[in-house]
Amino acid sequence: MRHRVNVQGYWLVSVDRDATTAAYAALPAWGGLFGCDTPLCENFRHAYGLLPPAFLSVLITMGVDPTKPAELYDVEPPQGDLCLCGGWYHAVGELLSGRDALQPGQLNRYEVILREVTAGFRMGITARLAALPGSFPAPALQIEFWGQIPWVIASIG
Ligand SMILES: [Zn+2]
Repeated sequence: MRHRVNVQGYWLVSVDRDATTAAYAALPAWGGLFGCDTPLCENFRHAYGLLPPAFLSVLITMGVDPTKPAELYDVEPPQGDLCLCGGWYHAVGELLSGRDALQPGQLNRYEVILREVTAGFRMGITARLAALPGSFPAPALQIEFWGQIPWVIASIG
């Protein structure tokens, strides 16, 4: 069943929470991080619960399992107890209003336009999908994030 969800007072999405929950349940543990032992992914496995509460609440409202991002990438090496990284999740649904986070830019590249959720942490919603698990139902949305997350494991190197 579809629900309309207002995200951060900016995007309006129609999401199928039950279908999203079921799609995540079918993914392996840690989703796109499955089997990856880089420090970035290892840190995320310990720190996902420390994502900003406002962002976690968006994920949970849509039925997304925060332990299973489709993708995670580092922007900078960790500094002190923070790491600047980005990534994304998927949800079953459609973007009804609010600007799509991926806008066509120059040289056939997309420009990523995110909005601040809390100091140092941004998110966006796009209908342009990457790394969508093969089992994921259509239509799908992509929930992008970019920002500081706690670095809770010992640094390596
Ligand atoms: Zn990894």
